[in-house]
Amino acid sequence: MELHRKTAHELLELHRKGEVSPVETVVSVLDRVRRVEGDVAAYLLVLDDAARRRAAELESADRNLPLYGVPVAVKDNICTKGTPTTCASKILKNFIPPYDAAVVERLRDAGAVIVGKTNMDEFAMGSSCENSGFHPTRNPWDLERVPGGSSGGSAAAVCADEAALALGSDTGGSIRQPASFCGVVGLKPTYGAVSRYGLVAFASSLDQIGPLAKDVHDAALMMNVIAVHDPRDSTSVNRPPADFLAGLDDGVRGVKLALVEEFLPEGTERGVRAAVEGAAAALEKSGAVVEKVSLPVLRYALPAYYLIAPAEASSNLARYDGVQYGRRAAQAGDLASLYGKTRREGFGAEVKRRIMLGAYALSAGYYDAYYLRALKVRALIVRDFGRAFEKYDALIGATSPTVSFKLGEKTADPLAMYLSDLCTIPVNLGGLPAVSVPCGLSGGLPVGLQIVGKPFDEGTVLRVARACEVSAGFERKVL
Ligand code: GLN
Repeated sequence: MELHRKTAHELLELHRKGEVSPVETVVSVLDRVRRVEGDVAAYLLVLDDAARRRAAELESADRNLPLYGVPVAVKDNICTKGTPTTCASKILKNFIPPYDAAVVERLRDAGAVIVGKTNMDEFAMGSSCENSGFHPTRNPWDLERVPGGSSGGSAAAVCADEAALALGSDTGGSIRQPASFCGVVGLKPTYGAVSRYGLVAFASSLDQIGPLAKDVHDAALMMNVIAVHDPRDSTSVNRPPADFLAGLDDGVRGVKLALVEEFLPEGTERGVRAAVEGAAAALEKSGAVVEKVSLPVLRYALPAYYLIAPAEASSNLARYDGVQYGRRAAQAGDLASLYGKTRREGFGAEVKRRIMLGAYALSAGYYDAYYLRALKVRALIVRDFGRAFEKYDALIGATSPTVSFKLGEKTADPLAMYLSDLCTIPVNLGGLPAVSVPCGLSGGLPVGLQIVGKPFDEGTVLRVARACEVSAGFERKVL
């Protein structure tokens, strides 16, 4: 039995019945990692010994734990106690957090086994994993291509069966776009649904942690574990815990869906459009009502995001000055040159670009013209999404305008790279939940359908995704 190929829910069943032990599963996954990491390079750190030890401990634990013995990968911007957490940045190369992120505590309590920390774009800024300060990750579907980003390591790990499930973070599309590129399921929860305690901040008003999974069922399973109130994150919303598995297979009869024109923007690849329209037609056949709508204000989401996110980043990243965290430049002289030298050596080009953009947008004289106007655009986006949801249960479209592109294809052109998130960014500005589910292929590469829901209506989003999964009959890539 090739245990590494199994979904989390399949593994759970085997573990609970006692047919397979967590140790057998973890050994199978670690063997898989050893075989494919040379090609894929999804991880920054594999926790070989710790994972084996944890799996052995679980042999005497309660088999009904919600993720009992499930091997999970964690993006490297999520703090793990005693284990390096680098955000794929040289500036945090030696940073070892003294505490676990809330989501990591939840995973451990749920009986999961953490396999390792996954590669990403530095500080989650990027769409291809090529901004990692250490090495790029490759797409298991085609090793010449990117896995997407910034949670590219987590998406590639799940895709290549190097973990059953993974955690990513999504500020402008970083869970959904790599999920789309790697042909896996990725969910960005409603802002406030999952605690950000222990997530290294990029843009605090947008960041949200969520699952990358082999199927919709597994994404729901992970949500049941991580989507709980946490008073340590003041934006965590206190709601009664939901069961995201309930009603997953109820189908879409009578569900009202809007196919949003702005989610198939100009420049969308022909094959992507065809797959998304095909998925919409299939949902209609399954009983959903699908109407085409336009939300013109979404066109301003990308420019607004590239003011708001860098503005918040420039403030959040001010703490990496060589004094408190991670790397400190040698022989820097006075304090100002210590700051300057540490940051010059420690940050990569894209991070520096974002800090400069953000500091500029917040500076006296430009604040009103840029940052404040971007916030006004954000308010309009929230308003227009709200209006659409008066009529529709969910909005659908492409996750990204293209399939995975070649390594190096967009590195010289930041704007071309930014356009990869054209369809995902508005959703973060709106604070809404959204999933990317594989819906077909274009030129032999996976296409993701994005499904966006009302705040805290992950249930509907997952149910529609499940219906799409059933009708698309998508086969995961076996490397
Ligand atoms: N690619 C987008 C950016 O570079 C989104 C990143 C993210 O969601 N973390 O900002």
